[in-house]
Amino acid sequence: MQLDVVTMMVMAAFVAVVSGVLLLVARFQYREMTPLLGWVAANFFFAGGLLRLASGLDESVVLVDGYVLLSLHPALLWTSARLLNERATPVSVVMAGPGAVLLAVLALPPQASDPIGVVHAVVAASYLATAAYAFAFQASQPLRARWALAALCLGQAAAALATIPLLYLPPAALQPFVWWALKMIQFEVLIFFIGSTIFLVAAIRESRELGHKLKAETDGLTGILNRRSFMEKAARSLRRCHQDGTPCALIVFDLDRFKVVNDTYGHAIGDMTLTMFAQTAGRDLRPGDIFGRIGGEEFAAFLPQTDLAGGLALAERIRLAFAREGRQIGRLPVGATLSAGVSAPLEAQTLESVMENADAALYLAKAAGRNRVLTSEAPRHGGAPVLAQVA
Ligand code: GH3
Ligand code: MG
Ligand code: MG
Repeated sequence: MQLDVVTMMVMAAFVAVVSGVLLLVARFQYREMTPLLGWVAANFFFAGGLLRLASGLDESVVLVDGYVLLSLHPALLWTSARLLNERATPVSVVMAGPGAVLLAVLALPPQASDPIGVVHAVVAASYLATAAYAFAFQASQPLRARWALAALCLGQAAAALATIPLLYLPPAALQPFVWWALKMIQFEVLIFFIGSTIFLVAAIRESRELGHKLKAETDGLTGILNRRSFMEKAARSLRRCHQDGTPCALIVFDLDRFKVVNDTYGHAIGDMTLTMFAQTAGRDLRPGDIFGRIGGEEFAAFLPQTDLAGGLALAERIRLAFAREGRQIGRLPVGATLSAGVSAPLEAQTLESVMENADAALYLAKAAGRNRVLTSEAPRHGGAPVLAQVA
């Protein structure tokens, strides 16, 4: 029976090593996933610690220093999980658990292997539960695989805690229940190593795909949506507004005399002005608003749940904030301003047609002297444009 426990431990160590090697291979394929190296090292420490414990069990002694190696496994998993989710990993926290196990090993006589096992189990469960939390609730990207990784870490935490009562049962009690419990723990450990390898690789692939998608949707200079994805998302949002019968509004912004800004202060200052506009406007927009760069110095914001008056008020707020921030850019007296056109769609009106209306209002704002916000109500009345100037 004792030998079987040892065989089980050797098997788990073997699976941990194979899983570590597979992750190492994945790391060479996906070089940006350096945090995986922590996970790989964790697997090797797990195997080392388990083999150390198993080698003592042959002689019916517990080589307690195996627990120190073993405790590096959850500590490094925690580190890796936090790094994968772009969270801080203070060295003090990484070392606290293994340090506590080391202290227990040094402070207690080697015969007191059970309390040392308890310290290890509690330390392991704490790290693993926190790693599960990082995957589930602190994820840097909304990956599907993170739920599986969180569940696996939680399962492994439960398995660590489940070893505590078993430590206090005399070896003679390696009877059906204890044997069954050991097999369950062994089974869970195998699931953890195989599952975590599969889902980590899945998470990396998913993260790459998401990164590509994000890059394809984003304007390289300002970091906001590019024209194509703005149009797609705004059209979808507009359809939803039509379906729900809720109001929405569209603002088109165009920076004033931007060619002159470039010609006077240089292209780099021009670029800084564009980025500054995106940041300034972004501060006033709500999370559900859709904001994109639709041309060189042209931007648009689609605002669900907002009527024409709300759209005008927001555009005006952004105009004022930009005029304030744009007075000086890179310590130069740029005095950047913008003009904006606002339109609120009628029932069943397409995005293209709403854009035309907002553009018409923008054109009129430029003609009226720039640095102002206008709306054109012409399509609603079928006559000449009715201007509502807010400036
Ligand atoms: P208006 O007030 O009538 O809008 O005048 P404007 O000079 O802003 O309009 P125009 O369309 O004549 O010029 C737009 C300028 O925007 C020309 C172009 O060089 C500049 N531009 C477009 N994209 C970028 C960019 O990415 N960076 C910089 N620095 N300038 C850009
Ligand atoms: Mg323009
Ligand atoms: Mg312009």
